[in-house]
Amino acid sequence: MRNLVLYAPPAAGKGTICEKLEQGYGYSVISIGQVLRNNRTPDTEVGRAIIETQDKGILTPDDIVAKALDIELKKYEGKPIVLEGYPRNINQAEALDTILNNYLVIVMQISREEAKKRALGRVTCSNCHKIYNIYDKALSPKNEGICDECGAALDIRSDDNEDSFNKRFDVFEENAPSIIEFYKNKNLLHLVDSSTSREEVYNQVKEIINGSKND
Ligand SMILES: [Zn+2]
Repeated sequence: MRNLVLYAPPAAGKGTICEKLEQGYGYSVISIGQVLRNNRTPDTEVGRAIIETQDKGILTPDDIVAKALDIELKKYEGKPIVLEGYPRNINQAEALDTILNNYLVIVMQISREEAKKRALGRVTCSNCHKIYNIYDKALSPKNEGICDECGAALDIRSDDNEDSFNKRFDVFEENAPSIIEFYKNKNLLHLVDSSTSREEVYNQVKEIINGSKND
């Protein structure tokens, strides 16, 4: 089975697809945040560079991130992985191409308006952590502000306000054209329409995986 790179703007539904890929195909999901946490150690040069930059509150440079990822990916040799949260720019895409073998790229497409609704409409139960969306009929609670499952109050997610959402979406839009062009030229690019239901999005992803098995 080929390795997958999942590239998507915020609120495109990446988390759900990752879960389904783990359960349905036995993929291991690797997020770049986890890679940095796993390699944050004073025992290696890469680890020390991660600690130094993170402690200063600055972004870890691309070459250090790529080295950490290379170390991490070696642990999964022979096992299919899904990489999410990386690459975020064209330099990272080029670096990744030298450290990941036998992969294809799935780009989850969604408009800013639709993604914004999902991000800002998301509410979580304060008790059982079930997730709802007040802008989506299928996902909204039966009684406003009350969890269907346990009756507790629903809290608005505090980390998603319109400003922070827009900033994250801006970063995606700035980098997406060059990344998409790069993968298109390599014949690795697969586009998925993420504005539909999670089931339908997953069906599109499955078709891509199943269609690539005989490549
Ligand atoms: Zn609940």
